[in-house]
Amino acid sequence: MRVDDIFKQAKQAGALPVSFEMFPPKGDLTMEKAREVAGSWAELHPDFISVTYSAGGSGNKGATADIAHMITDELGIPSVAHLTCISLTREGLKEKIEDFRAHGIRNVLALRGDVPHDASNIPDTPDFHYAKDIIPQLVDAGFCVGAAAYTEGHIECDDLQTSIEHLKQKQDAGASFFVTQLFFDNEYFYRFRERADKAGITVPVTAGIMPFMSKDQVARMVFMCGASLPSPVIKLLARYENDPDSLRAAGIEYACRQLENLRDHGAEGLHVYAMNRPSVARACMSAIRGA
Ligand code: FAD
Repeated sequence: MRVDDIFKQAKQAGALPVSFEMFPPKGDLTMEKAREVAGSWAELHPDFISVTYSAGGSGNKGATADIAHMITDELGIPSVAHLTCISLTREGLKEKIEDFRAHGIRNVLALRGDVPHDASNIPDTPDFHYAKDIIPQLVDAGFCVGAAAYTEGHIECDDLQTSIEHLKQKQDAGASFFVTQLFFDNEYFYRFRERADKAGITVPVTAGIMPFMSKDQVARMVFMCGASLPSPVIKLLARYENDPDSLRAAGIEYACRQLENLRDHGAEGLHVYAMNRPSVARACMSAIRGA
């Protein structure tokens, strides 16, 4: 099923689409492990599961299509295959489109990708500069195409307004839904949503939430995507600095409260960066739907 249709139907029914994000494990990927994780998530009846794609050289690119296919074909859950264009050539995009078609994929999240540490496989004169550059071809090929949104502005972008203008370009290119980068303070999402509305963003924007699991993970996220850390998060990180189990529990609890608040304030969709953990998905779904 197309994700834009999922949002349309949910709107008509007054329902709230909930999705999970999965990453193909690197190196030691086994389809069995992916199947196990996705199988446990399927029991929670998410509206879709998205599967990330490596922009760099981690070698798990092929797994995205395999896992997205497995999720839909075996588990009956709509899936979204991520695709990054930072190291993609025009010919490579055509091949990806054929590959995705062969895997029965209906939905693609079009991304530029982060510049990998080893940038040797990025062409000097790239065929595609931004995510918006690959959207029209994916739409023409019949896919439902989504893209990334940034509630605090993209880390490379000078200000939020410019970031929203770039978002609008992705919508104009044919994106029919957006998934946001993680954020720890819902006020940023509400302010972003207001400004995006004013800028003419009319497609659904689903709010992305990642429970924090460790201080290192939070530090990585903050430096990678520039998410602001509100003082309640800083206090929890300090309180449980030497107690990893309690810190993980506090991270899941914090994310659950964020999700409930977003649900109660009319978010159009909730997307959980569930980090391949069945327990995280279960706790978040239970907070959202009381299941
Ligand atoms: P773009 O929309 O192309 O934007 C990149 C930068 O260019 C931004 O600063 C933007 O403001 C700027 N820009 C855009 N258009 C213009 C223009 N016309 N002129 C000037 N500047 C412009 N990464 C992965 O490697 N694999 C994944 O699977 C993956 N999944 C993700 C899923 C979600 C929901 C999110 C939010 C991010 C994901 N990422 C993933 C990370 C993402 O690739 C990075 O955030 C990357 O830095 C930007 O990707 P983008 O598609 O948003 O890029």
